[in-house]
Amino acid sequence: MYWEKDIETLGRDSLNKLIIDRFNHALERASKSLFYTKRLNEVAIKPGNIKNFKDISNIPFTTKQDLRDNFPYGLLTMPLDNVIRMHSSSGTTGNPTVIFHNQNDINQWSNLLARSLYMAGVRKSDIFQNIMGYGLFTGGLGFHYGAEKLGSLVIPIATGNSDRQLWFMKEFKTTVVHFLPSYALRLHMHFNDQNIKPEDLHLKIACIGAEPHTEETRKKIEELYKIMAYNSYGLSEMNGPGVAFECEYQNGMHLWEDNYYMEIINPDTGEVLPDGEEGELVLTTLMREAMPILRYRTRDLTRIISEPCKCGRTHRRIDRIKGRTDDMLIINGVNIFPMQIEKKLMSISEVGHNYLIEIRKDNFLDKISITVEISNEHFKPNENQSLHHKITELLKNEIGVNPIVNLVASGSLPEFQGKADRVKDLRLIN
Ligand code: ADP
Ligand code: ZN
Repeated sequence: MYWEKDIETLGRDSLNKLIIDRFNHALERASKSLFYTKRLNEVAIKPGNIKNFKDISNIPFTTKQDLRDNFPYGLLTMPLDNVIRMHSSSGTTGNPTVIFHNQNDINQWSNLLARSLYMAGVRKSDIFQNIMGYGLFTGGLGFHYGAEKLGSLVIPIATGNSDRQLWFMKEFKTTVVHFLPSYALRLHMHFNDQNIKPEDLHLKIACIGAEPHTEETRKKIEELYKIMAYNSYGLSEMNGPGVAFECEYQNGMHLWEDNYYMEIINPDTGEVLPDGEEGELVLTTLMREAMPILRYRTRDLTRIISEPCKCGRTHRRIDRIKGRTDDMLIINGVNIFPMQIEKKLMSISEVGHNYLIEIRKDNFLDKISITVEISNEHFKPNENQSLHHKITELLKNEIGVNPIVNLVASGSLPEFQGKADRVKDLRLIN
């Protein structure tokens, strides 16, 4: 039932004590880096100063900009001799964010992924097809090491070539897959081409994550593949995947509190909010040695679920990520999150696997157009009026503005390399 029962079910008081203790150790390690020596001196905080959670709120936040400004080695706490791995986030503008690990860091990270996979029901006997980018991106290697640690047979197939992915699934009787939710939908389109039905495969479990998606998308993936799909959350700055993961009850993701200290803040004021309130997730690495990060502003919006979970794990959960603080679209003064649109679309049975949101300026007004792929069986060129009307009305009710809806055949929209990028804000260009 548990990978590490003692720590996963540790009583709240002991867990709190452990967090405070580890936080002080994290401070001690962090103060060995140039960046934190300066930062912590400025506010006169020393290791051992943290007696309770309130004391933590006196430590300044660390932002992505801090990591960029101190690129590449400013947050490193040890000689490069002891460092064995680096990863980075994609970073399309400016310096990428680079994270370093020593051997203990890699061991800890792998263990957290083994723990997460075990929680989702993955076992030693499973065949794990890792359909994620290997390399600098943390999704591939992170899961690879975790699944190996657990003892599953790992197929390090990485991304791309959908027909080959399906061939591997069939021939090697893959039981567990790890892929992006957007790719899960796309890969399914190849089932028809190859005349494959979910029953022909041996899949039981999918780990989906690394990008925002809705409950409706999860359900769709579960139905298309006839499997259980578990949400996986992480970010490179906190190692990558293995920060928070769903248990069998699929009701929020247990965030591994023995390794990460979590807070929810008001993104505008920085004020720490009580459990249950929605805001920006702030995380501290409690165990990382080569490059500890204190109070990192993830920009991800969620809330803490502190009610006990039926699985018996005591680590609190975070709710499905609603979006990022910088994701919110303001259309003629109305606030809209792309996930609201996805939620509606994925609950409409005729909708296929992909969609695209575009915002333009037209005569000083914002116009939002939503292009929606319709599944092959429902798409009838020039005869889609009633479907078009239905989708437009449903979207309008959800987002409060009138969208321009275009219906297109399955497979018409461009495919993504890596994470889905479905919002194009063209207001500054036009
Ligand atoms: P980037 O995407 O910036 O190159 P990362 O690979 O570190 O870098 O991505 C981490 C980000 O991906 C998170 O901060 C979050 O916004 C998003 N993300 C990761 N997992 C999930 C998830 N399960 N649900 C929603 N968003 C997620
Ligand atoms: Zn649980």
